[in-house]
Amino acid sequence: MTDTIFGKIIAGEIPSEFIYEDEHCIAINDIAPQAPVHVLVIPKKAIPRLVDAEADDQALLGHLMLAAGKVAKQLGVEEAFRLIVNNGEGAGQTVFHLHLHIIAGRTFAEGQM
Ligand code: C5P
Repeated sequence: MTDTIFGKIIAGEIPSEFIYEDEHCIAINDIAPQAPVHVLVIPKKAIPRLVDAEADDQALLGHLMLAAGKVAKQLGVEEAFRLIVNNGEGAGQTVFHLHLHIIAGRTFAEGQM
């Protein structure tokens, strides 16, 4: 649980403000925001990458998506946000504890990532 920075945050070893928490996940503001709203939804279970999730994690993965929707509503950005999962170093993943990025509050050009 504590092998990554997110594990330490979840364990309370590194102080961080949880803007959302339930039984299975937390949400925190990203320390280096890429948009006016940049929140990370992080499962309490430490799964390194999305591809490391297994069939048993199916409910948890759905839960994370629902939690992201709740957080988006909580922040008032439910009409326009993106969810991003970086999987693997080559995709820019730097913390190997699965997390969803909620990005909002900036213009998203049609057809562009
Ligand atoms: O998807 P990726 O692994 O690159 O995302 C990790 C994210 O965690 C980065 O956006 C980084 O800014 C954020 N981070 C954070 N607090 C930390 C360390 C990293 O919000 N203490």
